[in-house]
Amino acid sequence: MPSPIGHILSGILLYQIFNRHDARYDVRKLFVYVIISVIPDIDLAIGFLINDLKFHQGVFHSLGAAIFAGLIAGIVLIRKKGLFFNGFLLFSGLFYSHVILDYLASASDTGYPFGVALFWPFSNEYYVFPVTIFLDILRGTSNETLFSGMFNFHNLWAVMIELVLFLPLIILLHHFIFQKFGERL
Ligand SMILES: [Zn+2]
Repeated sequence: MPSPIGHILSGILLYQIFNRHDARYDVRKLFVYVIISVIPDIDLAIGFLINDLKFHQGVFHSLGAAIFAGLIAGIVLIRKKGLFFNGFLLFSGLFYSHVILDYLASASDTGYPFGVALFWPFSNEYYVFPVTIFLDILRGTSNETLFSGMFNFHNLWAVMIELVLFLPLIILLHHFIFQKFGERL
């Protein structure tokens, strides 16, 4: 899986793509995009709490989990604004973008599980992307070593790759949005 920085950057990029006609950055909306892009990794925190780190990248990283997250968001939004379908599509889409990003990084998975259960519950198969793009983030394999195992040059290099891949796109899109729609501000 990519680092949280990679997921945050992908959330910013997706915000720009879906809100490209609005040069005013809506901070609250941007925050929602970023949080949903990171949230599937909450299974790492749950794994830490139940002392089973193998819990990470299981069913929380799947189509079923994305649909479930979208349903919850849709139900919350329909009460507030009557926007079930929009909320469902946005939240399940953002959630699933995290799963896809982890899939794109799965060629470098160094620990169980290898790959991502992309289509669970429709398929139990774990899919591994054939080409290495992002690097897997190394961490300790037990609760005691989880955090200390994160500080190494491999992970620093992994974050650099994420920055190099995402930042130019974000800066380019920012320029494009401002050039095209900035005068409306
Ligand atoms: Zn993940």
